[in-house]
Amino acid sequence: MRYAARISRAQEAMASAGVDALLLSVGADLPYFTGYAAPQLERLTMAVIPEEGRATLVVPRLEAMKVTDVDAFDIVAWDETDDPVAIVTRLAGGAGEVAIGDHTWATFVLALQESMAGCRFRNASDLTSAIRVIKDDEEIRLLAEAGAAADRVAARLADARFSGQSENTLAGRVRAMCEEEGHDKGWDPIIASGPNGASPHHGAGERLITSGDVVVVDFGGTVGGYHADTTRTFSVGTPTGEVAEAYAVLVEAQDAGVVAAVVGATGEQVDRAARVVIEEAGRGGLFIHRTGHGIGLDIHEDPYIVEGNTSPLAAGMAFTVEPGLYAAGSWGMRIEDVVVATEDGPRRLNQSSRDLVVVA
Ligand code: ZN
Ligand code: ZN
Ligand code: ZN
Repeated sequence: MRYAARISRAQEAMASAGVDALLLSVGADLPYFTGYAAPQLERLTMAVIPEEGRATLVVPRLEAMKVTDVDAFDIVAWDETDDPVAIVTRLAGGAGEVAIGDHTWATFVLALQESMAGCRFRNASDLTSAIRVIKDDEEIRLLAEAGAAADRVAARLADARFSGQSENTLAGRVRAMCEEEGHDKGWDPIIASGPNGASPHHGAGERLITSGDVVVVDFGGTVGGYHADTTRTFSVGTPTGEVAEAYAVLVEAQDAGVVAAVVGATGEQVDRAARVVIEEAGRGGLFIHRTGHGIGLDIHEDPYIVEGNTSPLAAGMAFTVEPGLYAAGSWGMRIEDVVVATEDGPRRLNQSSRDLVVVA
């Protein structure tokens, strides 16, 4: 039922955009519209959704038994010696304009462009993003469940020993904790200690965490495909006055961003609300990235909370608010929560403490 309804919404969007067929391969659009996530393979999996009529999932024979929920579309399983590009071309039925999944492998896009000569290709996200950006109640329930699991990990981290561990060791433990606390799958966290914290997407390395470090921990996992993505910052031992002062500004900025995330506010207004607090404290130069990103089946998706995004937030949009401060050579700090815009105001899906937690 859910997928049939989503497919008809895509077809409505196609009709008004003049798109004859929607072609979805690897990436989050396919599971959103069909319930099936294609593996990253040299064998083509592709849903062909015509502007009118029933959709078809073209899938390698040896993958076909993994497709379980088939009410909303037909299946065409192709054998090793078949040409899946020819099958998709036939199903697209002489389309003049197709929208193709943004993450489709170039090798298939090029083959389809040759096979469907004269057809215009555009990004599927032109159509699918506006549909996916509004989460329904079930999607928000999954995002909230993922967020709650991340919160339990944050609480455990407050009691964990940091000093003497390598970033890699701690990263492995955080990922395991995510799965223990309810994520189907944890993703590789960022553990950025001391000067590494000044690189927002540091990852984790062999550096040993030591007394006096500020440690940025950015972590999460998925529940039913929907992501948690949260960041908490820890101080190994008592923070210096400079760090404590900067952190107080960051807390205020993050809170201002969340408070601004009401229905009708634009992405750039939310970004500015957080940024202005940091600028007025004279630390604008230390905040070197956008304030946040949408989140759902993809960890980064619309809406982006960034200068230049003039689209208003609507009820059901889910996104992060994650300002950070990065002092090159010394430390970094970030606070990240997932927030949903609702008619009753912004709703945080992360409730764990946003204080600078002092750990051993
Ligand atoms: Zn990030
Ligand atoms: Zn994050
Ligand atoms: Zn994030």
